[in-house]
Amino acid sequence: MPSLLTVEQALERILGHTHPLDAEIVPVAESVGRVTRQPAFSRIDLPPFPSSAMDGFALRAADTPGELPVTFRVAAGSPPPCPQQPGSASGVTTGGVVPENADAVVPVEEVQDLGDVIEVPRAATPGQHIRPRGGDVREGDLVLEAGHRISAAHVGALAAAGVPDITCSLRPRVAVLATGSELRSVGEELAPGQIYESNRAMVAAVLAGAGAVVDVLPVVEDDLSTHRAALERGLEADVLVTTGGVSMGPHDLVRGVLRDLGVEEIFWGVAVKPGKPLSFGARGATLVFGLPGNPVSALVGALVFVRPALLALQGQAEPAGAYESGRIAAALRRNAHRDEFVRARRRVDDDGVTLVPVSGQESHMIVHAASADALIHAPRGSGEIPPGSFVRYLRLD
Ligand code: AMP
Ligand code: MG
Repeated sequence: MPSLLTVEQALERILGHTHPLDAEIVPVAESVGRVTRQPAFSRIDLPPFPSSAMDGFALRAADTPGELPVTFRVAAGSPPPCPQQPGSASGVTTGGVVPENADAVVPVEEVQDLGDVIEVPRAATPGQHIRPRGGDVREGDLVLEAGHRISAAHVGALAAAGVPDITCSLRPRVAVLATGSELRSVGEELAPGQIYESNRAMVAAVLAGAGAVVDVLPVVEDDLSTHRAALERGLEADVLVTTGGVSMGPHDLVRGVLRDLGVEEIFWGVAVKPGKPLSFGARGATLVFGLPGNPVSALVGALVFVRPALLALQGQAEPAGAYESGRIAAALRRNAHRDEFVRARRRVDDDGVTLVPVSGQESHMIVHAASADALIHAPRGSGEIPPGSFVRYLRLD
């Protein structure tokens, strides 16, 4: 294997070859999880009118305390019939329009409602319980920037601001395939030497979570013609992700066949544990990731390298920035040559996030890895990272 790239260098090369896909207009109601490509601006002042924050009575603060006739009652959804006359009050409900010239709302529980008249025992403060027009956002103001993944709250904000649809990146089409003659599908009988295929569904789940539309292709036997046909089909996608067959064994055929199919290999080998023999290449606009077959290696590769590429394809700002920070509970021995991704459990308490490495850190131990909810990035180096140190980690849950 040639000299290995660092994690940072590998990511830099990946992102350097990743160009945003085209964009399309998406109805806001269907936009959650999509990435904005153009900013969205409010079509209205929100609230569109001064509105009451309470069920109560609109009045002029200067008229309180005192006894005020109730001249009208405003129902939600209809405007008041006239401005508030001095020395009078009107009934309003939460979200209802506060009449012009009224400058305070007194909640219903703070007055004596005698029908045509209310008694207000205490002085009101101007502005109390009134939501001013445009207090949340003004017409023409920014609601959501370009390059953001749309959350449930964004969907609500856009709808409230009168935005019917929004320009988003196309979702990347990703083909996922697994290589290995030893692999059988769950439900089949295992003959000696065989194991269940577990990478495709797992990698597909990671990538779907990053906004991809995933096409899971059949398992590929370790022979050249099967590889050729399967990889050719996978190369029709925006991104092809393979697992297995990228190491140096006699049955590791993926890189050679990709080369024959016109894929330019941009790198092979990253100074990372697990996941060292990862390959990355491109054919035209199609990106190709060859992840190692060990399940934890495939998981780490998908999270650390493929996910950022998918986010960059969607034009997301800071595609590699999903890391959070926490303290390690125990010392972590550094690997001299490779950055390590250590599976850990998060404990959240008053001191913040503490990360406790799980037992069973070998790259085939997917069941042990599944007891973790965090992936600590332990940079290569000498000695150990002392307990209590801050480290960065990716969420696994
Ligand atoms: P490879 O990278 O092809 O040499 O595979 C490394 C190890 O991962 C071997 O033990 C394989 O059996 C195992 N492996 C490869 N692909 C898969 C898969 N899709 N699901 C589960 N294990 C796999
Ligand atoms: Mg293999």
